[in-house]
Amino acid sequence: MDVSFELLSDLDVFAKKTSPKFSYNQNYREGFYLCPNPILFEDTTSPQKSLQVFDEKQKAYMFKTQSNFLAFDLFAAIFYLISRQEEYRIAKKDNHNRFDYRESIAFKHGFLEYPIIDKWILDFKTTLIEKLKLNPPPKKHLQHHISIDVDQLYAFKNRGYKALPFFIKSCFTNPLLAFRYLFKHKDPYDYLDFLNTLPHKHTAFLHVGHKTKYDAPNANSEYIELAVACFSKAYQIGLHPSYYSSEALEVLAKEKKLLESQAKTSITSSRQHFLRFSLPKTYQSLLSLGISDEYSMGYSESPGFRASTSRSFLWFDLQNNKMTDLWVHPFWFMDVQLLKGTLSPNKAKEIIGHLKQYDGVNHMVLHNHFFAFQTNANQLKQKIQTILGYVS
Ligand SMILES: [Zn+2]
Repeated sequence: MDVSFELLSDLDVFAKKTSPKFSYNQNYREGFYLCPNPILFEDTTSPQKSLQVFDEKQKAYMFKTQSNFLAFDLFAAIFYLISRQEEYRIAKKDNHNRFDYRESIAFKHGFLEYPIIDKWILDFKTTLIEKLKLNPPPKKHLQHHISIDVDQLYAFKNRGYKALPFFIKSCFTNPLLAFRYLFKHKDPYDYLDFLNTLPHKHTAFLHVGHKTKYDAPNANSEYIELAVACFSKAYQIGLHPSYYSSEALEVLAKEKKLLESQAKTSITSSRQHFLRFSLPKTYQSLLSLGISDEYSMGYSESPGFRASTSRSFLWFDLQNNKMTDLWVHPFWFMDVQLLKGTLSPNKAKEIIGHLKQYDGVNHMVLHNHFFAFQTNANQLKQKIQTILGYVS
């Protein structure tokens, strides 16, 4: 809101103020006030052992408190959810050693698919306007971003003998892919034409790591130069750190340097391959290498808001108890969810409706190579276009 304000910590000075005021203090319970929960004043990362979540789904709240307009400490609840405190002490990891969305408070209490923080902020803004008699700001438009993870640019083209095992396998398992390449020179992963026609293009994250069980062999300067040339006309270029890089700073540093040398620019944006990151280590490593914008905050197994907001925020490092310069940019949807059926266009319509209602950010993640695994790539294209239709 475009409002000037003053922060006061002296209660006597505050009490004498006659201008519109709001109190967030344990010892002042007059007028427009909210009593804080201690979480924002602690300097440890001790988990909230007895964290209670009240009500369910879209009306859930936590950190019950005294106030004359709200049942809970909004600031404590937002801090708890966006700092991802629950991820620091992961009870159960999935088979890729990642935080399992089924372990999250948002999933357990039915608000994972709902940007609950965006709703709280809008409700609070409405209350401030009403109680402090402020001028309402103009309604914001939904922001919209599409980013691409490029795990591998081409299946066969320009890959030489490295493509041979996959080509032979495709001849038996998916002959259409192989024949289309042989006779029409159409590489199964080449959907650049489609990706370039999409609106709101944002960043293409390029994988430039070595081959492992979970990584294609992309650590090759010719390949990287080609990938940069393909995507840099329409997208910003970011790094897609390889599967094991989240555990090895030197690998991450090498990949960043390699991409920078071919992109001929410094790389400051990143999204982890397989969304494989652990807090706080991965974010600390990225920051130490000059990454300022991180895009892994979401789940591949389920649509939804991992940090309970669709909006970007600065990461707070709980281990060192300090605010950092790392911007975290959440996404709520990945194309694999359309392939696996964990997201339907109707569900997407509902979620985009919430984003429109709460001034949110619609950030969607696609992969060039997933189109190859659809029996009819047009089905996936159509679903994506249908979802994009809900945005406008
Ligand atoms: Zn990936």
